[in-house]
Amino acid sequence: MKWLGPTGKTEVCGIIGDPIEHTMSPVIHNTAFENKGVDYVYLAFRVKEEELGKAIEGMRALNMRGLSITIPHKVDVIQFLDELDPLADKIGAVNTIVNDGGVLRGYNTDADGFLQALLERGIEPKGKRVVILGAGGASRAISFILAERGASLAILNRTWDRAKICADRISETFQSEVVVLKLDGENLATALGEADILVNTTSIGMSPDIDETPVNAALLKSGLVVFDIIYNPIKTRLQREAELAGATVISGLDMLVWQGALAFEKWTGLKAPVELMKQEAIKLLEKHEN
Ligand code: NAP
Repeated sequence: MKWLGPTGKTEVCGIIGDPIEHTMSPVIHNTAFENKGVDYVYLAFRVKEEELGKAIEGMRALNMRGLSITIPHKVDVIQFLDELDPLADKIGAVNTIVNDGGVLRGYNTDADGFLQALLERGIEPKGKRVVILGAGGASRAISFILAERGASLAILNRTWDRAKICADRISETFQSEVVVLKLDGENLATALGEADILVNTTSIGMSPDIDETPVNAALLKSGLVVFDIIYNPIKTRLQREAELAGATVISGLDMLVWQGALAFEKWTGLKAPVELMKQEAIKLLEKHEN
C-alpha cells in the first residue's frame, strides 16, 4: 500500500546522535513503514550531548512514538526515561525508546539484533565458546546477551582494564566466569584454538581502513563462526579471509537490520519486512562504496 504523505494522525519516529548525517536508518525505516502501509514517518536529528535532556523532553511534549539512539547518547539517555527493559538495564545502554501514552521505555535492540542474526543462521549460542574482540559499547550489549543465553566468553581488548570492567559486570549478573585477555597475536591464537564463535566488535577494518583486520588469517578455520559486526564495508577483510578459510561468516549488516527491525516491531506492533530493509541497506552501502 502506498503512503500518501503525512496526515494529522501521522506517528513520528526518529534517530538522535552526533554526528548523524551518515545514518542509514531513515531510509530503512521509511521504506519499511511504506511497505507495511502504516502512517508513520522517521527523521534524523543531530542532538549535541548537552541538549540530550531537552531532546527527550521534546519527544515527550511532541508525543513522538519512538526514537533510535546512537553514539554518543546510548548510556546518558537512561536518566531521562521512565522505564527500562530488564536487558537494557543490565547492559546499561539504550538504543530504542518507545513512547506509550507519555511513558518512555528504553530497550537495547543491538543485543537482540545480534542474537537474532545468529539464530536466523541456525546458530544457538548456548554452551558455545565465544571469543569477543573489543570491549566498547557494542561489545557490552553482545557479551550480555551471549552470557544470558548460556555461552562461555573470552573478551580480548587492546585496553585490558576496559574488558575487565565489562567481564566483572557479566560475572556479577550471571555468576559465570569470563576470561579477560589483552588483544595480541599470542592470546588470540590461544583463545581461538578452543573457540566455536569469533565476534569482532572492534572498529579494526571499518571504512576507510578496509585493508586492516584484527585477526591473522592463519588463525581462521572451517567450523568456526565469524561474526564481524562492522557493516561498512559490506564485506570486511576479516570476513573475506574467514570465507576463504571455510568458516561460517555473518555480516554486521544482519545485526544492523535486525536491531532496526526489532525497533520497528515495538513501535508499530507489526512484523518488520526484514529482507526489504536489508536490501535497502545494501543499496545504500553500495552507493557509498562506489
Ligand atoms: P566503541 O565503544 O568506540 O569501542 C571500540 C572498540 O574497538 C574498543 O574495544 C576499542 O579498544 C577497539 N579498537 C578501536 N580501534 C582499535 C585498534 N586500532 N586496535 C585495537 N582495538 C581497537 O565502539 P562501538 O560502539 O562498540 O562500535 C564498535 C564497532 O561496531 C564499530 O565499527 C561500529 O560501527 C560497529 N557497530 C555495529 C553495529 C551493527 O548493528 N552492526 C552496532 C553497533 C556498532 P579500546 O577499548 O582499547 O579503545
